[in-house]
Amino acid sequence: MSPSLPSEPSTRGAAATVSLLIPVFNEGAAIIGTLQRLEAVLAPQPYAVEVVIVNDGSHDDTLAKIQTYQSPRFTIVVVDLSRNFGKEAALSAGLQVASGDAVIPIDADLQDPPELIPEMIERWRQGAEVVVAHRSDRRSDSAMKRLTASGFYRLINRIAEVQIPDNVGDFRLMDRTVVDVVCSLPENRRFMKGLFAWAGFRTERVEYVRQQRAAGQSKFNGFRLINLAVEGITSFSTAPLRLATYAGALVAAAAFCYVVYIVVRTLIFGVDLPGYASLISVMLFMSGVQLLALGLIGEYVGRTYMEAKRRPAFVIRKIWRNAATDPGPKVE
Ligand code: UDP
Ligand code: MG
Repeated sequence: MSPSLPSEPSTRGAAATVSLLIPVFNEGAAIIGTLQRLEAVLAPQPYAVEVVIVNDGSHDDTLAKIQTYQSPRFTIVVVDLSRNFGKEAALSAGLQVASGDAVIPIDADLQDPPELIPEMIERWRQGAEVVVAHRSDRRSDSAMKRLTASGFYRLINRIAEVQIPDNVGDFRLMDRTVVDVVCSLPENRRFMKGLFAWAGFRTERVEYVRQQRAAGQSKFNGFRLINLAVEGITSFSTAPLRLATYAGALVAAAAFCYVVYIVVRTLIFGVDLPGYASLISVMLFMSGVQLLALGLIGEYVGRTYMEAKRRPAFVIRKIWRNAATDPGPKVE
């Protein structure tokens, strides 16, 4: 595919619009508090603020709560997906709908502190195209989550084609140019952190301390995180396939040496029948290695299959727009 040509440079002056993008899945307990805090933090900003809330198939009262929320400061855009498509798809939907000159994805649970947004906007105003929020302290996450996360990043950054920064989530500011690039990527299985990193651009970072979840529960349990990790690795690297090739070559070489040894030994000392234990261990080991390699190949074939269907990453049921009652000190 030919690369997309950059759109008109976005405006960064007072006439600019900043979009916040909040994916929500069963966040009835947290969403209103989050909107109010965003409202308080962004009230003094000279920019028009659009808040795109993507309802990712919630089955609690999230949607009803957002619909009745009257915002003085924000234009609220509610994107209602037809079912739960997962956070990555919800983010993709929101990026497509957001119209701001800068877009900031932020979680609904206040783990990403809104107080950081004015600083991000300031960096963008001074020329940064991406401003990532770097977690300098993850003490609010469990030890297990921190350990697995750091292992994952070390692995993926060794083998992937792009460097995905450690301790940086989806909370970041992206200029319109960057958003357009990410939206133009045709794949439907979307590992957003990887796609953001792949897009590149002039990136700056601001530090923050990851907060505790304000209300409700985390939607990512152990298994979902493992799936996300596999998704990330297979999206951005074919190194596991090469590993299977090398492992195969290594085992074949070892097997060849063993065959030579057995043949020579039989020729010198004659047939030696006992050896059931070693035979069965070698067989079991080999079939294990083969199954593992087959599984790896299957993983990639499966991805190719899913992509080949060309199904969209999400389905939008409806979009509502609710203009701000008092859009604040915007200067045209
Ligand atoms: N989320 C979503 N769809 C999902 C799961 C999560 O839109 O299928 C949203 C969720 O509502 C929240 C954000 O993604 O705004 C991060 O989720 P969560 O806080 O559960 O993840 P954690 O912070 O524990 O990694
Ligand atoms: Mg969270």
